[in-house]
Amino acid sequence: MMSSKELENIVNKVLSGEIKLHELDKVLENSNIAVLVRRLVLEKMLNIQLANIGFTTIEWNKVVGRNIENPIGAVQVPLGIAGPLKILGDYAKGEFYIPLATTEGALVASINRGCKAITLSGGAKVKILNDFMSRAPLFKTSSIEEAIKLIKWVKEHFEEIKAEAESTTRHGKLLRIDPFIVGNNVWLRFIYSTGDAMGMNMVTIATDKVCKYIENNLGLKCLSLSGNLCVDKKPSLMNMLFGRGKTVIAEAIIKKDVVKEVLKTTPKNIVEVNTRKNLLGSARAGSLSFNAHYANIVAAIFIATGQDAAQVVESSMGYTWAELVGEDLYISVTLPSLEVGTVGGGTRLPTQREALQIMGVYGSGNPPGTNAKKFAEIVAAAVLAGELSLLAALSAGHLAEAHKRLGRGMFKKTRRK
Ligand code: NAP
Repeated sequence: MMSSKELENIVNKVLSGEIKLHELDKVLENSNIAVLVRRLVLEKMLNIQLANIGFTTIEWNKVVGRNIENPIGAVQVPLGIAGPLKILGDYAKGEFYIPLATTEGALVASINRGCKAITLSGGAKVKILNDFMSRAPLFKTSSIEEAIKLIKWVKEHFEEIKAEAESTTRHGKLLRIDPFIVGNNVWLRFIYSTGDAMGMNMVTIATDKVCKYIENNLGLKCLSLSGNLCVDKKPSLMNMLFGRGKTVIAEAIIKKDVVKEVLKTTPKNIVEVNTRKNLLGSARAGSLSFNAHYANIVAAIFIATGQDAAQVVESSMGYTWAELVGEDLYISVTLPSLEVGTVGGGTRLPTQREALQIMGVYGSGNPPGTNAKKFAEIVAAAVLAGELSLLAALSAGHLAEAHKRLGRGMFKKTRRK
């Protein structure tokens, strides 16, 4: 550990410009001290106190170079738990507790209520229809002829291309390449299975190797390793139609009595709100997505478990369907593009790892891929719980009241009386 004199000395060197903030890890050969020095520099430079940002269990020497550059500490997000939620999936079987990181009052309580209604009704069935990760580099050719020649060559040399791609990874497998053309521009959408990893780094590294192979063999230029047809972190019809990550459907039949006692409304009212709000309202707004709030549940789980938070964009797109089955309620959520992993990325951070462990999905599955699939099924079932509860609150006219009570601190005030 450094003495306070040594610390002051290094802080002054940064303030004078002799050492840059981002060089501290290298100069000090210790990222834990570099993080402290950066905070001290900012405190001095901005004349503020950063008394809370430094509190964390993160071991910075394990994280710098993998998850963050120039770190100064960590933010804390409250973590709530919903459940038990009974899930009847192909991978997730049994009752699960869902960790949710959020600052939105009423969210955890609402999802918890949905979990109760689903569990009392026998559980949520879940199926995964599709599972892959994509990267779509853009090639610049001189003409349509050359564009077509490129696509033909790629088709004829698929086995060599696959070998090139898979030489970079143990778990990534190239499944196919879908070509797209506009004028003399060609996008090759590489489709991989990625085991338990969300896979974005994995497929980017593998595809880069293939692009160099194509460039060397055809003398063509890969203009950009990502050509925006992947489609990563942008809303798109591409992902809605063809999927990305896991395409997952969760459904449940909620008994009429459960709807009445737990959700304080009727199946008919929920069906009507879903049809007029989620379907018609979204259509009228020109939305790509037809649901009430998948993003709430997806974001809270993503933040809790170290998923890539920016992928909430496409992971929270989807369709809610509700109808009457006799006097009971059928409800389903369909998520075409849920991008999750149980290894890699932020999943290795200490609190995120524990959140995954709560659901029994941290790390590699046996066989690989089964843990990420189990996790995707749990996320979809949790989305179903959240969607059901919000539609019920809207149909009963309880939404504003719940937010007043749980989002404005009224909960504690009433309890103290
Ligand atoms: P990663 O941590 O880069 O790679 C996953 C690692 O886990 C690989 O080294 C893989 O080894 C290993 N692994 C061990 N057991 C595995 C198993 N059972 N299944 C699969 N892999 C296993 O993570 P990633 O999922 O590829 O990428 C996620 C990260 O990419 C996130 O941090 C995200 O923010 C970031 N990201 C990157 C881009 C980009 O363009 N590069 C875009 C968006 C997001 P093998 O490869 O040898 O199998």
